[in-house]
Amino acid sequence: MMKKIFYTILCILCFFLLIGGVSAKTLKEAKDELNRDIANRNALIQKQKDVQNRIKNAEGDISNLEDEIEKYEQEIEETLAEIDRLNEEIEAKQIEIDNLLNFLEVADGDNVYLEYIFKSKSFTDFIYRSAVVEQLTKYNDDLIDQMYNLIEENKKQQEELNVKIDNNEKSIEKLENKLKTYNVSLKDLETAHTNIDDTIADRKRTVEYYEKLYKQYNCKETVELDTCLTVESASGFIRPTKKGSISSEWGYRRCPIHGRELHSGIDVALGMNNPVYAAASGVVVGITKRSSCGGNIVTIRHNIKGTIYRTRYMHLASINVSMGQKVTVVTEIGKSGGGGYTLRRNGGWDSCSTGAHLHFMILKGSTGSTTINPRKMVKFPAKGKSFSARW
Ligand SMILES: [Zn+2]
Repeated sequence: MMKKIFYTILCILCFFLLIGGVSAKTLKEAKDELNRDIANRNALIQKQKDVQNRIKNAEGDISNLEDEIEKYEQEIEETLAEIDRLNEEIEAKQIEIDNLLNFLEVADGDNVYLEYIFKSKSFTDFIYRSAVVEQLTKYNDDLIDQMYNLIEENKKQQEELNVKIDNNEKSIEKLENKLKTYNVSLKDLETAHTNIDDTIADRKRTVEYYEKLYKQYNCKETVELDTCLTVESASGFIRPTKKGSISSEWGYRRCPIHGRELHSGIDVALGMNNPVYAAASGVVVGITKRSSCGGNIVTIRHNIKGTIYRTRYMHLASINVSMGQKVTVVTEIGKSGGGGYTLRRNGGWDSCSTGAHLHFMILKGSTGSTTINPRKMVKFPAKGKSFSARW
């Protein structure tokens, strides 16, 4: 289990070491890269605003459609109440007609029409009064017909309102689906925004340190960093520590997560807070403090008999040099770490180390992440054997 965790951490470390490193060749290029990413971020912000507006509009539309549905439901209720009222009226009119018909057909019973007709003063009057009753019946009949028509109209209106409600509900469903899509793309944009913020922060640091070096070496910003930094030529590398033992070799090995992976440096096991020196004369071109994977890191640029190399020292407990500083083999660049209080699990910052050691790398050229086996250029004892001198 411990071994598995160890290799997992190792793989993560390899990954970080591969993506690390500065890519811009000139200060101008570094500035251009920064400006391009700032422009990209502005475009992202605009896109985020667009999607936020779309979300706002869709939410507004949904709210309007819901209000409409409420209104339609109110109208349906009113229509139903109207139908009820008309039905009641029809019933009342029906009773009235029944009474009138009762009189006309049977001419008995106790009702107001009978009384009305019986009060006739003459036969002509009787005929007249009968005709009035008959007309009343017809009038009521017509009224009932009209009311039935009204009921039909109300029912039709109710159906139409139901169709409108259905349509609104469908529209709401469509809008809600759109909202889901918008929210997903907004989340993606937010992630992209955070990522580009991180990149911009890195680029700003790069520009800052390029500016410092270009000013220090009095170079034009279009001149390549390689040309700008006139580094004294060294004859070769020596061991970066006075003592220690090799606990892990440079090279490919199996990783339970990523398969075959490159361990980009050689691990020198030594206790905490021992001096670490530059492996050759050169200029400090990289300083990373308290990286979550690698801890304190120093990178030095060297000119070894006309060929440019960089050495990198990782998991340091502390850093003793500054950017652009010229160093020699006797310059103490920092103290060893990778164990004790520097470990994440002990409340430190480095999650990519399991014990006190120096991860020592030699990189080809002034940029890129191609490493070479440090054993090719530095005399180290066999794995497991300790040493007590720098050469
Ligand atoms: Zn290592």
